[in-house]
Amino acid sequence: MHELALMEGIIAAVQERAAAHNITRITKIKIVVGKLTMALPESLSFAFDVLVADDDLWKDAKLEIEEKDVECRCRACGRCFGGLPLGVFSCPECGAASVEIIHGRELLVDYFEGESLDGEKDRAQDRCSAS
Ligand SMILES: [Zn+2]
Repeated sequence: MHELALMEGIIAAVQERAAAHNITRITKIKIVVGKLTMALPESLSFAFDVLVADDDLWKDAKLEIEEKDVECRCRACGRCFGGLPLGVFSCPECGAASVEIIHGRELLVDYFEGESLDGEKDRAQDRCSAS
């Protein structure tokens, strides 16, 4: 399962950050998933539950997933556009096939929240990419 491997990467990245911030309990994690990753939020959420089961660090963690639509920019005319059917990458304005994907391929941790050893709340906002 594609999502299991992706989620493994995310969890590993967050665990590393958590250790650096002395966080012993993660309470919330928000990830951003571009639609081009083809990862289904339900499957990611399922993979998350499976991977963190019986792990004290993640016991109370809530997972939030934001899906990011595909957004492209035409290299020929500079127009930005989104909402193309998957796999179609040509400019609706001028028809050029040279388009740059701005959003939709990302898979990253937006932020996570947790509590550190001394009970202090911590929030790591620096983004860590799992890809
Ligand atoms: Zn164009």
